[in-house]
Amino acid sequence: MNNTDYSESAFSTTMIHAGQHKDPENGALVTPIFQTTTFAFDNMDVPAAIYTGKKPGCTYTRVKNPTTIQLEDKMALVEGGEACVATSSGVGAIGSTILSLLGAGDHIIAGKVVYGITQVMLHHFKRFGMEVTQVDTSDLQAVEEAIQPNTKMIYLETPANPTLVISDIEGCARIAHEHDALLMVDGTFAPPPIQFALKLGADIVVHSSTKYLCGHGDAIGGLVIGPKKYIDMIRVDGIKSICGDCPSPFNSWLTLRGMKTEAIRVKLHCENALKLAKFLERHPYIKSVRYPGLESHPQHELAKHQMNGLYGGIVTFEMNDIGPKSGFEVCTDLLNNLKVVTLAVSLGEVDSLIEFPAGMTHRTCTKEELKAAHITDRMIRFSVGLEDADDLIHDFEQAFAKI
Ligand SMILES: *Cc1c(COP(=O)(O)O)cnc(C)c1O
Repeated sequence: MNNTDYSESAFSTTMIHAGQHKDPENGALVTPIFQTTTFAFDNMDVPAAIYTGKKPGCTYTRVKNPTTIQLEDKMALVEGGEACVATSSGVGAIGSTILSLLGAGDHIIAGKVVYGITQVMLHHFKRFGMEVTQVDTSDLQAVEEAIQPNTKMIYLETPANPTLVISDIEGCARIAHEHDALLMVDGTFAPPPIQFALKLGADIVVHSSTKYLCGHGDAIGGLVIGPKKYIDMIRVDGIKSICGDCPSPFNSWLTLRGMKTEAIRVKLHCENALKLAKFLERHPYIKSVRYPGLESHPQHELAKHQMNGLYGGIVTFEMNDIGPKSGFEVCTDLLNNLKVVTLAVSLGEVDSLIEFPAGMTHRTCTKEELKAAHITDRMIRFSVGLEDADDLIHDFEQAFAKI
């Protein structure tokens, strides 16, 4: 492990160097891909020492792998956490963490607006005997009022997908800790250097590294960062024994490669998103725009403090009815006519991606379910990529002209 202290380094330096160890045999600068399932032992002393924790080392890639360890070490240093464990996906990171740390009879307070599959997962947790209360976690009073004697965790996503509601991490951490509960934050929409959830008081932060951290749309993965005692439990109980939720060495390598440029990519995503949000906010076809960096965002002041003035790369907007066309039809027309922006789910990639929840991912939801998730029938989620901002604006202009 590279023990250099990066706490005083600029973020981009940390992102490139932290966790990186030079290959002792050949001096390879870039982390090799250790594409192996198992690790040969010279004699019985070696496994005896590893299995009893007397010596570090790998025995089997489901539990530890040298490529994945470099990713974990880098991310722990980047977030300023004690330890990190990598998982096969962001959903895996959330599931393995909760299944490792909580059990039947425990109560979770979760945000009302969470990633779609997280919502499904919360239903399954009830099947396993956990209690789940969903509240608007941007309302600290509602969080406080939901506390029960068996509350073990407050779980929130900030900014939330796709409504970009911001929850106050410091405020929720205070409430959690007053009641001996953990605060777990899904920080996928705002990875460092935008938001440092642990430094704001969260106990555990999870990321879908599929999004900004990998950044190139070629590897699914998840990362959990927090105190070593919890990360060890997640690795041993959740990943080794319950969920088998390990990344492939190649995906860990792709994520490591993506992370080297994350600092500069994220800055540009944020700059482009602000330009596009301002363009859309002025356009007569647009009913409303949600972006934490706009003064019109109801929690702009909180976002300014909590997101280091960077605000992320996702813009959510609603279309007006135009002539005889409903907002839903207008959204469909717009998405059928964009040329540079790609119609696809996922986010946080170099390519701009756009999705229409009511017409795509949430198409089978009832009106009540959409309302509960604050998703309207004319709402579009736009992941602003790294193309030239003027080209993106022109793409919208030509598509608007065809509506
Ligand atoms: C994509 C996403 C996830 C799930 O991550 P996967 O890597 O796709 O499993 C979880 N939370 C948020 C906020 C996401 O955007």
